[in-house]
Amino acid sequence: MPSVEIIAVGSELLTPERVDTNSLWLTAQLNELGFEVTAKSIIGDHRDRLTQAYRQALASADIVISTGGLGPTEDDVTRDCAAEALGVRLEHWESLWEDLKAKFARMGRPIPENNRRQALVLQGGESLANPNGTAPGQWFAREGRALILLPGPPRELKPMFSHHVMERLRPLAGSNVLVRRTLKVYGLGESAMDELLAPLYPQHPEVTVTTLFTPLDLEVHLLASGTTSELGLQKVTPFEQAVREVLGVYVYGESLQSLAEVVGQQLLAAGKTLVTAESITGGLVAQRVTEVAGSSRYFLGSFVTYSEEMKHRLLGVPEGMLAQYSAVSAPVAEAMAAGARDRSGADYALALTGYAGPDGGTEEDPVGTVYLGLAGPDVVKSKRVKFPGDRELVRSRCAQAALDWLRRSLLT
Ligand code: AMP
Ligand code: MG
Repeated sequence: MPSVEIIAVGSELLTPERVDTNSLWLTAQLNELGFEVTAKSIIGDHRDRLTQAYRQALASADIVISTGGLGPTEDDVTRDCAAEALGVRLEHWESLWEDLKAKFARMGRPIPENNRRQALVLQGGESLANPNGTAPGQWFAREGRALILLPGPPRELKPMFSHHVMERLRPLAGSNVLVRRTLKVYGLGESAMDELLAPLYPQHPEVTVTTLFTPLDLEVHLLASGTTSELGLQKVTPFEQAVREVLGVYVYGESLQSLAEVVGQQLLAAGKTLVTAESITGGLVAQRVTEVAGSSRYFLGSFVTYSEEMKHRLLGVPEGMLAQYSAVSAPVAEAMAAGARDRSGADYALALTGYAGPDGGTEEDPVGTVYLGLAGPDVVKSKRVKFPGDRELVRSRCAQAALDWLRRSLLT
């Protein structure tokens, strides 16, 4: 598969004020076309540094795409540096100069002399029209390699790439397509997952594996190329099966699926309904469940019972139990779930009670301790979990843990 390197040019992109979004957008397009982006860099507006960057990129990648630095001012050095790195001259194109003059005339403005820079084209190169701005792009190909210069503003770059670059790149991509599969994983640490997956890597050398860690779960990305998507799938599918086998019940879904969505599908398939009784999370589980379109088909609602009095009055948790065990305890979590299930008529009830911090907690149950309760048609059970992190993370993580516990309970 041909390799591409992207160079984003602009000193502003090295500050916190401006983010390089062009390379992300380009990478998505290039992957779609069947190119692998092997490197990208952000280079400030410095002649020597940029020339060096072009030289290095041209030596290692089949295609180099540069964005930015095609404006008319002194700090727009892309053209000069590209010419120097390629060892070619810049030529003045009278036709481009005429186009630029016409553009300015239409805007009713005199054309500054420094815009002449934008009529300079790499010797042997081609110019790419820019209907949305003044800076034309450039295409330069030599010995099967290409250097492509695109303007920096995304609203100029995107149409130029789609209209003028994509079709020229397609033949260079060969007939490769990239096939990507993503598995979502809950309940394993990153290194624990890596230990399980590492033995698989040597058996599937044609698949690129990336694991991503988010505060809530893990993702395994599998990537392979083939001359058709079927052939790409033939490489990815056995690896995906092996990953599913090794990780087992830790795999909860794929691609963009959320845990709440997967639980919703399980409830829907079983024709069951859910209610939540939330103390520590204040409705966060209900929020995740109801983010999913169509959740009204299986989600009845939530009791947000923050005080002991509300736990007693709304859910029927006995006052004596609250006094004896405290609100953060296994019996109370179970009583909350059972009460919510009874009073709502739902098939399943999830309850959460715990210490989010930063203050509170006890010696046996420090901040981060959460009791989950689950009531179903033939069981009421509880589980003690403990999470590291600040208040926000503890709340977010225990909401996810509750959903995963329900998911696993529904599997059996
Ligand atoms: P230039 O073509 O270097 O004159 O860039 C013009 C403007 O385009 C910059 O001021 C940025 O606002 C924007 N721009 C340039 N490069 C990028 C990039 N890689 N990602 C997003 N915006 C960019
Ligand atoms: Mg710039």
